Amino acid sequence: MTADLVLRSPLDGWASSLSEVPDPVFAEAMLGDGVAIDPTGSTLHAPCEGVITSIHASRHAVSLRAAGGVEILMHIGLETVAMNGEGFEAHVVAGQAVAAGDRLISFDLELLARHAKSLITPIVITNPAGRAITTRFVDRAVKTGEPLLALSGALAGGVVAAIADTPELTRAVIVPLIHGLHARPAARVADTAKRFEAEMSLVALNRRANAKSPIGLMSLGLRHGDAVTLVATGLDAAAALEAVAELIEGGMGEGAPVRPTVSPVPFSATPTARPGVAVLRGVMASPGLAVGKAVRLFLDEIAVPELGQGAAHEKAALDAALTAVRTRISREAEASGGQARRAILGAHAAFLEDPELTGQALRLIGEGKSAGYAWRAAIGAYVEALRSLGDRRIAERVDDLLDLERRVLLVISGQEDRGPDLPQDAILLAEELLPSQLMALDPARLAGICTAGGGPTSHVAILAASMGIPAVVAAGPGVARVNEGTSLILDADAGLLHLAPDAKALETAQTALAARSERRIAARATAREDCRMADGTRVKVFANLGSLADAEAAADAGAEGCGLLRTEFLFLERDTAPDEDEQADEYAAIARAIGGRPLIVRLLDVGGDKTARYLPIAAEENPALGMRGIRVLLRRPHILRTQLRAILRGAPHAKIMAPMVTGLGELRAVRLVLDEARRELGRVGRTDLGVMIETPAAAMIADLLAAEADFLSVGTNDLTQYTLAMDRGNPDLAGDIDALHPAVLRLIAQTTQGGAKHALWTGVCGGLAGDLAAVPILLGLGVSELSMPSAAIPEAKAMIRTLSPEACRGLAAKALAQSSADAVRTLSNTFLTGEA
Ligand code: PEP
Ligand code: MG
Repeated sequence: MTADLVLRSPLDGWASSLSEVPDPVFAEAMLGDGVAIDPTGSTLHAPCEGVITSIHASRHAVSLRAAGGVEILMHIGLETVAMNGEGFEAHVVAGQAVAAGDRLISFDLELLARHAKSLITPIVITNPAGRAITTRFVDRAVKTGEPLLALSGALAGGVVAAIADTPELTRAVIVPLIHGLHARPAARVADTAKRFEAEMSLVALNRRANAKSPIGLMSLGLRHGDAVTLVATGLDAAAALEAVAELIEGGMGEGAPVRPTVSPVPFSATPTARPGVAVLRGVMASPGLAVGKAVRLFLDEIAVPELGQGAAHEKAALDAALTAVRTRISREAEASGGQARRAILGAHAAFLEDPELTGQALRLIGEGKSAGYAWRAAIGAYVEALRSLGDRRIAERVDDLLDLERRVLLVISGQEDRGPDLPQDAILLAEELLPSQLMALDPARLAGICTAGGGPTSHVAILAASMGIPAVVAAGPGVARVNEGTSLILDADAGLLHLAPDAKALETAQTALAARSERRIAARATAREDCRMADGTRVKVFANLGSLADAEAAADAGAEGCGLLRTEFLFLERDTAPDEDEQADEYAAIARAIGGRPLIVRLLDVGGDKTARYLPIAAEENPALGMRGIRVLLRRPHILRTQLRAILRGAPHAKIMAPMVTGLGELRAVRLVLDEARRELGRVGRTDLGVMIETPAAAMIADLLAAEADFLSVGTNDLTQYTLAMDRGNPDLAGDIDALHPAVLRLIAQTTQGGAKHALWTGVCGGLAGDLAAVPILLGLGVSELSMPSAAIPEAKAMIRTLSPEACRGLAAKALAQSSADAVRTLSNTFLTGEA
């Protein structure tokens, strides 16, 4: 076997095996295998070509990454950290590329001999990256530059396999996950990679991460649509590659866009301060209203000493703390709690197992740092890396890392992590709440949360929403100035925290709170009844479906039918296109599950932010403006034909809807294939064919489309994206892309008018249909069918029953004349709270 990496002696001296080092951390290879040199020279040189990954502030230790990811730590003398750099001179800095033999550190040998426990200098392979030491040139005098160690491709566990026999395998994949490779998917990828012996990395955007390191994966900052190359070596590299590629390409259940749907009417009719009442403004993270007293939870920094008491002692302390926290996390995950809570704890457990994180902490311990300092520094490096990616969603995972930092440091420093004893109706105020802190609180006493920092998609926000606790984040430094016990109203829907409100405001909020709870109970009780406006005008309230399970839940929630079946979601996890029989069976099952109620099946809408493995689309510069929806189907007529036949067979009463239409030609082309399929199947009677209005073009020619279509249904998610030129998946624009923008409303108005010209009904099946502030405006614009997620149906129906068509028309006319989405929201909320 030939070596694929040779390390040359960095020093003149006597080479011996690592077991000779009088420190168990090195002697027992706790930091990795290697050799040691008792120096006679006073300059440390690079043992091979590489990049300096770290150089200790005391300049007594340096780490270098060689080709293939092999990491080498060189530690000059023992317990030399205590010399605080005296007698050491560094010639390189972190990040610098070096050639074999380059000078790294000079040191005063005599000074060292007087102050160090020993001069012996361990050279340790802290990350062998799939290789093993095959030859050591020890028990002899060495000169700088002479061979010292040889490494070859070998699998851990003693199974020798020359790397030349298991070539590097690569595979390119595109990330289909709508929110990119954030914490939970990263943990799943690492989990899958760990099942294989193979070394695997993900390479993208000029960065490389160990596939077994969830934090490393996250710090790649991979977003939806990014291309990434999987690189694997080892005996089972092919299987490992396949498993990880399949997992990523399958979307891990996150291929579908997640849109905010319901924004209930805020307690504050307008999201502004009331006169005479101090208000802090933040961002809604979990909806709702709370009235209560301030409970402050501002944490003291946990102090950790920089220097350790010997590497063996510090390593034992870190190991014990990691084990203790791991045990606590698994106990918490077993205890009662929802799926969101378990998923978050799962991600924390995966971070604790992250080999890069613990490896970095151990390296610092090896350099003389204390366990606490090393853990904080290792976490800190990742926190910096994640924050610097400029991806808000990934940056929000920082609080998970800080949470783990705190939990481990508390154990190391022998402190208890006790949350505050909450009084009833506590509104918790914090700089940034950590997930474990929230989970430790009694939800029955916790009325709301307001944090100075944080983000709306952080794990704390997800947890708060799953616990039904209203939460506002990013409310600014004013939060820290609120005194314990201050009376508060937290209007999460408006993103406001009212400080010390007067008796009248408190009473109003209490009344609103009671009314909300009654409204929810009452709405559920009448959800299954037909929906009519106050004057008896019928409004169809339908559900959007993407699976059979959705269909089963829809009937329960009071859906009167399905206004949008997203068929592309039915067959996501597959490599081959579903055949006609399979599709027909699925459509039939969904039609049965909604009890034969009206069903609108949308033709496959693949492309843009929705990918399907069996329908690959070439990489595009601008996918939202490229091959998607009907454009794809018309270029693959056999897929269109198969789907139309399957719908006609499985759900013969269903209406069919074409996505992403921009012109009459597309509608006519689909109609031709539909008519042909009907003839082949011997169908008599009608099959309604409708058009989704998702592009400004379709809205502007709605009258022309209506002349030949059977109905129109507005997809406000895309219509808003294309009208405002704002990517619907871009988290940085999430606060700005609001479908209540008057430009979007004017296009909807144009659509209903175009439909009405030909006596066609117009529905809305995008996210706006489930937004309570939008419902009266949409009805006022002439929309007669609203299709929304099932969960939104009871309250939407209850609200529609209180509305009169005339008042809605008046509101809609005013909305069209507003200058911004915010202004429209304010107008509608004022209308709904009866303050107009
Ligand atoms: C829409 O664009 O509003 C819509 C309903 O379609 P999708 O969200 O599936 O793109
Ligand atoms: Mg759409």
